[in-house]
Amino acid sequence: MINKKMVIYNTLSKKKDVIKPIKGKKINLFVCGPTVYDFSHIGHARTYVFFDAFVRYLRGRGFTVFYLQNITDIDDRIIQRAREKGVPIKDLADAFTKEYLKNMKALGITSVNKYAKATDYIKEIISQIQRLQKKRYAYSLDDGIYFDILKFKNYGKLSGRTVLESEDSVSRIDYSKNKRNRGDFCLWKFKVEGEPFWPAPFGAGRPGWHTEDTAITETFFGAQYDIHGGGRDLIFPHHEAEITQMEAISGKKPMARYWMHTGFLTMDEQKMSKSLGNFIVIDDFLKRYSPQQLRFWITKNLWHSPIDYSESVMIEVKMSLEKIEEFLRKLKVIKSKVRGVTDGKLLKTAKDDFYTALADDFNTPKAFAVIFEFIKEINKLLDQNLVGKKAAKDISAFFVEINTMFDIIDFKKLKTSNVPHEVSELVKTREQYRKVQNWEKSDEIRHEIEKYGFSVDDTKDGTVLKKM
Ligand code: AMP
Repeated sequence: MINKKMVIYNTLSKKKDVIKPIKGKKINLFVCGPTVYDFSHIGHARTYVFFDAFVRYLRGRGFTVFYLQNITDIDDRIIQRAREKGVPIKDLADAFTKEYLKNMKALGITSVNKYAKATDYIKEIISQIQRLQKKRYAYSLDDGIYFDILKFKNYGKLSGRTVLESEDSVSRIDYSKNKRNRGDFCLWKFKVEGEPFWPAPFGAGRPGWHTEDTAITETFFGAQYDIHGGGRDLIFPHHEAEITQMEAISGKKPMARYWMHTGFLTMDEQKMSKSLGNFIVIDDFLKRYSPQQLRFWITKNLWHSPIDYSESVMIEVKMSLEKIEEFLRKLKVIKSKVRGVTDGKLLKTAKDDFYTALADDFNTPKAFAVIFEFIKEINKLLDQNLVGKKAAKDISAFFVEINTMFDIIDFKKLKTSNVPHEVSELVKTREQYRKVQNWEKSDEIRHEIEKYGFSVDDTKDGTVLKKM
């Protein structure tokens, strides 16, 4: 991997910043996990697949990344949904946590070091609230304990907001009639009959949303860490509130150096979300498309731009991936010892340009454009039988390297080639006929093979099958 200086768009500074960890090559990264009251949809996948690829890339660059994610397993919406369904609150949260983790596994998300459930950190949450009370940032009302945002000088530094504005791109505001300021957020909700609660010195109850995350990050990383991520709907009020309360507690700033917010996955240009009801759950999506197709679609787009779902986009995705797979199949059968004059040079340039694009704000559209241009150029050489075995191996190794980050090629499938047994047998028979130059028979079998949806390409090194 090429170790160019890496820059990333930072919501906090509103520009691209060079990534420089607090300590050596260690990066502590926290990404907001889901609120588990329903099945996860492909909008969630957009955020989590991106961070998975990004973390794998960082590790490939030699950083030691600790990737932490919370799971919000206590929340108003969980309580409400459990009531609607007539099931115990904990059972509902546990069931959807399990579903979420199952989905992440199905999507090949392997980079997370720790999933931390909010309800496992109640002691730490209580400790944070006590410290805020001591510093007089927190005040009590009938229904809970709130943070007085007027007492925190830098409130609004992430989102640029000072008061509550219109509710687009705003997720979950705490409503309470007697709050001192409109934007004050809830740290602790006092016990309500029939709802889960935990004892606390300031009164039994349950945590507010923002406090869960800072208690978890403080436990693992301390008061300051490197990167905080999530979808852009979380910038306000959630992330603003996290910064406010953590920096108020510790006096250290910034709480996180780099804030990375993914663009929305939309359908008909509207954010896909559980509350709007316009979502496709991951399970259903994976019945129609492979995890690799979903990952490629997500990661080939710039991480902080919106991406719109449509059937036609997915057809393009399928075709592009097939192009890569076909290319790799061709490389696999090469036996020739020919020494290509340009293939090595092309590979070096492609690698260089690919990693240069990734180092610049993880610009995957540019990086994948490099890859497809490279495939086009090598295909030209393949047509002229100018790629030898060694070059083919080096090129394939580059794609394996790409896959360690993006996981978009199913190499196992490529090995078994996804070719029906009948077709492989026909190919073998046709080879026999070709050896004895029986072109008539060979053509006959070619037509047979085409009926299975495959075309045959006769190269110097043997037959290459292509999906039609
Ligand atoms: P939630 O369970 O709604 O708190 O969402 C969990 C994570 O998924 C958060 O980081 C959200 O910002 C992100 N997310 C939810 N919907 C979308 C979407 N349509 N596009 C991108 N990210 C999303």
